[in-house]
Amino acid sequence: MTDLTTHLVARIRAGGPMRISEFMAEALLHPTYGYYTTRDPLGAAGDFTTAPEISQMFGEMIGLCLAQTWLDQGRPTRFALAELGPGRGTLMADILRATRAVPGFCEAAELHLVEVSPTLREAQRTRLGTAVTWYDNVADLPEDLPLYLVANEFFDALPIRQFLRSGPGWAERLVGLENEALAFGIGEILAQPALADRLADTKDGDMVEICPMAAPIAETIGARIETQGGVALMIDYGGWHSLGDTFQAMRAHETVFPLEVPGHADLTAHVDFEPLAKATPSAHSRLTPQGIFLERLGITARAQALAKTLSGASLESHIAAHRRLTHPDEMGNLFKTLAFYPTTATPPPGFEA
Ligand code: SAH
Repeated sequence: MTDLTTHLVARIRAGGPMRISEFMAEALLHPTYGYYTTRDPLGAAGDFTTAPEISQMFGEMIGLCLAQTWLDQGRPTRFALAELGPGRGTLMADILRATRAVPGFCEAAELHLVEVSPTLREAQRTRLGTAVTWYDNVADLPEDLPLYLVANEFFDALPIRQFLRSGPGWAERLVGLENEALAFGIGEILAQPALADRLADTKDGDMVEICPMAAPIAETIGARIETQGGVALMIDYGGWHSLGDTFQAMRAHETVFPLEVPGHADLTAHVDFEPLAKATPSAHSRLTPQGIFLERLGITARAQALAKTLSGASLESHIAAHRRLTHPDEMGNLFKTLAFYPTTATPPPGFEA
């Protein structure tokens, strides 16, 4: 039993079954035992690998998109270059390197990072230096600057709740105890006003997920962009109008039972982009598969240019990385991108209205 399991079992024994969102928040962010609090989970030696860790080309394309948007919006002389959940800081480092060639962009950018993990903040400091401001919450980002924001695999880490349809009501999936071990259970059937719009497209036994933190975050970001200008690029796995159980745990690049080793496995759920798009007061793009987005920004030309400098095993892995980021059988279709931009502006490069 892990220390966090002992803590969770005691909590449930005292207070009864908990929501999956509470379980997720404890497992990921508990100050002493939380998964993100205590470790750098990324890369081959960790539990999962993300697009920026696969190839520098990912951050380069994002950087191009941000810089072109900055040019299109009249080159504001000061702006917040912000990232949510920056991991090791790799994506931001690649963005800064790729945009150095755009006169004035890096000079105008102030770095603002939203990160709760002290371990990952330290990794970001090592990578990006000290001219960075960190925040625990999206709402703390500066309000008086244009906002150029990226979030890659951030929303998938936010706690979700799951509900099973039963007639006109919903039963929440809970985490309780069975023979003193953590086990899934089901709460009582209740009306759920938040799910009123899901009665038409679901039937008995269907499961739907909601991510209570996601829409308020999208609204905050979108309001800043609408009033101050800028753009938000959100990249994650998921879709539109989510249905079914997508709660999963990853450890050492394998999926494991989500309740098995809390604090020692990454917990995620697919992102439903629809509530994000509905929450923003700004304009939003069409939901765009990652592969299409990267192709539109020119990743293949960039891959070919880089390939000329490589040979042998490094060329092989470069080709594999390009495929992994873009091919529909790999990350190209599973991962989606959504952009927010001012209603007075055109969509950023790579997106359609
Ligand atoms: N974007 C990075 C890392 C993705 S992992 C990459 O693509 O490689 C998820 C990141 O979100 C980590 O940095 C984690 O510490 C952070 N995170 C998770 N939940 C968070 C929360 N509620 N608030 C702020 N950051 C969070």
